[in-house]
Parts: sequence; C-alpha cells; structure tokens
Amino acid sequence: MSGIGSQLLETPERTALRKAVGDLGRRYGSAYYLAKARAGEPADELWAEAGKAGYLGVNLPAEYGGGGGGISDLAIVLEELGTAGCPLLLLIVSPAICGTVIARYGTEEQKQRWLPGLADGSRRMAFGITEPDAGSNSHRISTVARRDGEDWLLTGRKVFVSGIDHSDAVLFVARTEDARTGKLKPCLFVVPRNTPGFEYRAIPMELVAPEKQFQVFLDDVRLPADALVGDENAGLLQLFAGLNPERVLTAAFSLGLARQALGKAVEYAKTRTVWSTPIGAHQGLAHPLAQCAVEIELARLMTQKAGLLYDAGEDLAAGEAANMAKYAAGEAAARTVDQAVQTLGGNGLTQEYGLGALLAATRVGRVAPVSREMVLNYVAQHTLGLPKSY
Ligand SMILES: Cc1cc2nc3c(=O)[nH]c(=O)nc-3n(C[C@H](O)[C@H](O)[C@H](O)COP(=O)(O)OP(=O)(O)OC[C@H]3O[C@@H](n4cnc5c(N)ncnc54)[C@H](O)[C@@H]3O)c2cc1C
Repeated sequence: MSGIGSQLLETPERTALRKAVGDLGRRYGSAYYLAKARAGEPADELWAEAGKAGYLGVNLPAEYGGGGGGISDLAIVLEELGTAGCPLLLLIVSPAICGTVIARYGTEEQKQRWLPGLADGSRRMAFGITEPDAGSNSHRISTVARRDGEDWLLTGRKVFVSGIDHSDAVLFVARTEDARTGKLKPCLFVVPRNTPGFEYRAIPMELVAPEKQFQVFLDDVRLPADALVGDENAGLLQLFAGLNPERVLTAAFSLGLARQALGKAVEYAKTRTVWSTPIGAHQGLAHPLAQCAVEIELARLMTQKAGLLYDAGEDLAAGEAANMAKYAAGEAAARTVDQAVQTLGGNGLTQEYGLGALLAATRVGRVAPVSREMVLNYVAQHTLGLPKSY
C-alpha cells in the first residue's frame, strides 16, 4: 500500500503500531483465520496475543488498563489484522462500541468491572441493537426495560448479534416503558450471558468467520439497577458515542479485507503467465486493480478523517465522516474482492487462496451496522439538505 504522505497523516507511533500489528497478524495469517472459522471456533490464540500486547484496548483509558489512545488507533489494529488475513469482527463490538460507551458514560464501578478485561481481551462484550421488526429503523425497536423496585426487567427480541457465544455479556439497547411511543429514548444495559431469561440461538449464515450471529430472546430478564449504563434520559447522544466508533471500525474492517484481497491479486498477477507475459501486464486486469488501489486509498483517508474527528470530540462532524468512511470502504472492499477473485481465475474460488470466503464478508461492510442505502439517505438529508422520503 502507498506510504506517500504517511508521515504527515500518521504519527510515528501509529506507523509503528501498524507495523507491529501487521507482523502479529501475518504470523497467524488467513490460513489460521479460515481454519478457525470453518471449525466454528473462536480465534482465541490471536485474540489473547493481541490483548496481551495491548492492541485490543489501545483506545481505552490508560487508568483502566487501556492504551490511552483513540478510535484511530483501534481502527489501525483492525485494518492491519484484516490486511494480514485476520479481520476480527469482535473488535468492532467489544472494545470499540462497548468499551467506548462504558468509558464515556459508565459509573466508576462499571469502568472498574469491565474496562481492564475488555482492554486485555480476557473479557468480551457483544452488542445488540438490531431487531427483527425494526431492522434499519432503530427508532422502532421494541425491547422494553421496565422498573421493578430497584431492578430492571428487560423483554424483547434481537437479531444478528455477533459473537455472543464468545462473550461474557451483551450490551443491549432497549427503550424505557414510558417511552414506548414517541421518539426513541434508548437505554443501554449490560446483560451477563448466563442471566436467567436470556436465550440465544445461532443463525445459520453463509459467512466464513469465527464470529457467529445470533437471535436473542429476552423474557423478563431481571437486572440489578447498575446494569444500566449511563442516564436513562440521555437519549441518542450516549448511543452514538458507541455507534460512530462502530462505523469507523467497520470501515477499517472493510479496508483490511480490501487490502488483503488486493495484495493476493497483485502477487498472483505478477507471476501467473498464460500467454507470453504475466497476466498483470494485461490492462484488462491491471487497470481495475489500479482503480481498486485508488479507491482503497481514498476510503482510508476518509476513515482517518472520521477517526481524527471522533478522537477530537467533534461528535457531529465525526458522524458524517464516519458514515462516509463506512460507505467508501464498504464499496472499495466489495469491488476489490470481486476484482481479486476475477484476477485469480479458478483459483479465486479455491480454499487455498482464501479469496472466495471474502465475497460474503465484504457484504457485511455494505449492510452493517447501517446499510449503504441508509448512509446515502443520511448524506442526502444531512449533508445535502434534501427532503426525507421515508
Ligand atoms: C454479519 C453481520 C453481523 C452483524 N452484527 C450485529 C451485531 O453485532 N449487533 C447488532 O445489533 N446488529 C448486527 N448486525 C445487523 C445489522 O446492523 C443489520 O443487518 C443492518 O442494520 C440492516 O438491518 P436489516 O438486516 O434488518 O435490513 P433491513 O432494514 O430490512 O433493510 C433491507 C434492505 O432495505 C434497504 N432499506 C431499508 N430502509 C430503507 C430506506 N429508507 N431507503 C432505502 N433503502 C432502505 C436497506 O438498505 C437494505 O438494503 C449484523 C449484521 C450482519 C450481516
């Protein structure tokens, strides 16, 4: 990947972080990652090693065992692991969403209880907002939290919650009962995995990844008062403290997939010869690969911008940039993986080269956590001031 201008765009510490994480990722590589995924097992060895090295909690406050950096640092970690063949989806959720929300809005006790474990990887937390009947319209979520004395009772259904089986708890988004009608007043609750009334079932997916997706049933799940993270009346602000990092990290996830695919395709195109020159000499392959390199670089710049804005506390501007970065990286990844598979001919679909599996993975960046169409709706309305159609 281009290093032009990198010293202007990234501090020497971040460049060193890129290299160190890339070195770790390459020691495992896509063969390890895909073998784990196909066996239905978590990538525990890599997760543990990355945690021990401080990479998983690089964005979390130093006083709770983190690296004291920002979302920009964590995005580097995910991008480089993905480029090396190990796009660990749970990084988007555990340290990026859950860690950020608890660090920003948790009580001292909640920070002490969760952050050191999330930072060193010894504990993991999944995140559940999506519901079967609400989908992209998260204002319509119907998981309700009602008070029962000091306790809370949580009831509802969630879908596509990633990695519950590898997590100690899930951070669920619910709404308080008196806010059932009207605007969404989201409340966030930490629910330990073994809490009575909390059940989950894996959704069979066509995705080759160590993290499974689950549907969730919450049936009067009794939670103590301190399961609530933040203020029950704080509204969308607290939620977006977690959702903007999620978008930046999803962009980094897509960038990692794209760079991994481009690297494999270029390597192959340099050596595979079926006429008199390597196939990479044919402009029918070289130009689309060059276009992918341009698009990746552009998406990477936007991701850096979104991370910088978020880390500077500019939440509103970060929201727009994070949406744009997620969109750009998702598109770049989908096009690059498609072109990489084409470049390898039949080998694009063999398990040996590990590219076919990325075809489904790139769709994640187009659909989650907010779909391509919903990002375009956001840009049309908020950036361009066009009327809303829905
Ligand atoms: C691999 C994977 C992991 C995930 N992990 C998690 C997780 O950990 N936690 C979690 O809470 N969720 C998770 N999700 C869910 C994800 O965030 C949702 O799939 C996403 O928000 C889209 O919702 P939906 O699938 O219900 O699609 P829908 O909302 O039903 O949308 C279907 C299609 O309609 C389009 N559409 C909808 N409304 C409009 C409109 N107004 N204008 C134009 N087009 C529109 C969408 O863009 C999309 O193309 C995950 C999803 C996947 C695939």
